[in-house]
Amino acid sequence: MSPPLQLRFVMSATRRAALPEAVAEVAVVGRSNVGKSSLINALANRRDLARVSKTPGRTQLLNLYDVAGGQGSLVDLPGYGYAAVPGRTRATWPAMIEGYLLEREHLVLTLVLVDAEVGPTKLDVQTLEWFRGHGLAHAVVATKHDKVKASVRQRRKAELLAGCEEPVAAWTSAAKGTGIDELRLLLRSRLA
Ligand code: GDP
Repeated sequence: MSPPLQLRFVMSATRRAALPEAVAEVAVVGRSNVGKSSLINALANRRDLARVSKTPGRTQLLNLYDVAGGQGSLVDLPGYGYAAVPGRTRATWPAMIEGYLLEREHLVLTLVLVDAEVGPTKLDVQTLEWFRGHGLAHAVVATKHDKVKASVRQRRKAELLAGCEEPVAAWTSAAKGTGIDELRLLLRSRLA
């Protein structure tokens, strides 16, 4: 078993330049409602840690946590789709997120969350293409695994794989704890 990550909220920032130096950092991204806050809480085995990122005014910010036991940190990025322009899909991300992802030194990995129940959305697919196009280290993490009926899990896994066009690093359920250990191990290895 991998013990909970000891996450501590440090600050919210409007841009990369406002963040303190980091030795190794993992970012988490996904469309709103994908289960990002629940997953961060599950990683830390805390109930309300990631509530800070839901505070009005903070939903569009970079929310920084430090990870005790090392000099690593975790950054919760704004949920994409949240500020989507009505009536059209954005082809690019807000400059603030792009600036962070492309320029943040020591960003070792970004978790791209995909809802296992609804499958990869167009925005998820575009996001993954963007990461591949920029050669940025990332891992697809499927959320809400418990919401997929056991009878359709095999098929859904194949669909997700095909839709994302890359392997799924972890199948998780924040509600049931599925895959959380595995994900903690992955993060610990990257932050070490
Ligand atoms: P965020 O907007 O990406 O931060 O998503 P939240 O963590 O707030 O979750 C959005 C909704 O999905 C909430 O109603 C959560 O309770 C629900 N949810 C998140 N993770 C899970 C999960 O693993 N299983 C189930 N069944 N529901 C989940």
